[in-house]
Amino acid sequence: MGCIFCDILDGKKDGYFFYEDEHHVAFLDKYPIDVGHSLVIPRKHHERITDMTSEDVGNVFSIVPRIAKAILNATGADAFSLGQNNGRAAKQIIPHVHIHIIPRYNSKGTVWTKRQISSGDELLELAKKIRSLI
Ligand SMILES: [Zn+2]
Repeated sequence: MGCIFCDILDGKKDGYFFYEDEHHVAFLDKYPIDVGHSLVIPRKHHERITDMTSEDVGNVFSIVPRIAKAILNATGADAFSLGQNNGRAAKQIIPHVHIHIIPRYNSKGTVWTKRQISSGDELLELAKKIRSLI
């Protein structure tokens, strides 16, 4: 059974990466709730955080503040929300652990569940900008 995130990590599918380290990567969500919506994932495939060691769960969350700051600086967002779903009933769509960082804007009343479609160029530009701010 294939995993889209493992395919992105293997370079088989496009990913708008702006952060990589030995164990984690961060990239822009292709179907963002709002501009700058990003995902932080461990390189190693696990479906749920309960399949990971506590240390690994701590490590992936520990990079979130630094990445969130860069996203806020790059987008001018006023705030951000985190989302982390485990299992289909929780609306986890891709069965590879991921943390959503969702920028929030005072000027917009973005609806949580509504996804947009961004162009590849927009995502590429934004990924570059966030990378330069980390
Ligand atoms: Zn995977």
